[in-house]
Amino acid sequence: MIVNNKPVQQNNIFAIPVLDQYLIYAPLHNLAALVDRLAVCQIKDGLAGARGHTSDGLDEIVQNLTSQAEPVPSAREGTFAPAFLGLIPTRSCNLACEYCGFLAAEEPDLVMDLELARDAIKWYFDLVRRSGLGTAEIHFFGGEPFCAEEVVDFAFHYAWLQASKIGCSVRFEVATNGTFDEERCLWAADSLDSIILSLDGPADIQDQHRHRKDGKGCFEVIVRNARILSERAAELSFRVCVTADTVARMPEIAAWLCRESRLSGL
Ligand code: SF4
Repeated sequence: MIVNNKPVQQNNIFAIPVLDQYLIYAPLHNLAALVDRLAVCQIKDGLAGARGHTSDGLDEIVQNLTSQAEPVPSAREGTFAPAFLGLIPTRSCNLACEYCGFLAAEEPDLVMDLELARDAIKWYFDLVRRSGLGTAEIHFFGGEPFCAEEVVDFAFHYAWLQASKIGCSVRFEVATNGTFDEERCLWAADSLDSIILSLDGPADIQDQHRHRKDGKGCFEVIVRNARILSERAAELSFRVCVTADTVARMPEIAAWLCRESRLSGL
């Protein structure tokens, strides 16, 4: 299951390194467990039929993993009908969150060509037209999508143009770090339908891992924008990254977010 500290698949049982522990994940056995390295070795021995000293908890895991698994789901069939078109205007970002995987992207400043955005939107609306759907849906992801504002603005207007041509409506969603200025915030609140804002919690939590590239915090501007968004029509959801440092404060974080904002989802 583990070779050179890398996860290895074994009969749809996975051991994934998580900090100094391992997540045993076996979807066909409906099992997920966080264990230490010794336990991984003991589970591996147990699966190989070796008898050794283990705890009751590990015996239970081995029993579960050696019991009949759920059947492997078959590949999807039927008409290709994606729920939305996802666009990544850029992988770059104005923040430097410590847990961000996108920072390692090979070309972090690469921005989507407008021609590519145009072709993707055109292709998607043709699919929407042929499927007879009344509503199209476009989601923006990043990096930080508003670091490539020209792509977001182009896609927004071009999508409305295509929607008007085929007589459907269009919904927009963005996942953002919310560090934009007030003008962009008001545009997002009034133009987009759903905004997923990355905010980890009160100032000491937010600025601990989710800071700017120069190390300065970004809490104030995001909370100001969250308040503006709370008062407008767009649905507002928060995406909270919980770390080992903050997991015990989850109830406090949830209560704080509910107090501070009118949220639709967490
Ligand atoms: S805001 Fe998102 S994309 Fe930007 S550094 Fe943080 S996790 Fe990465």
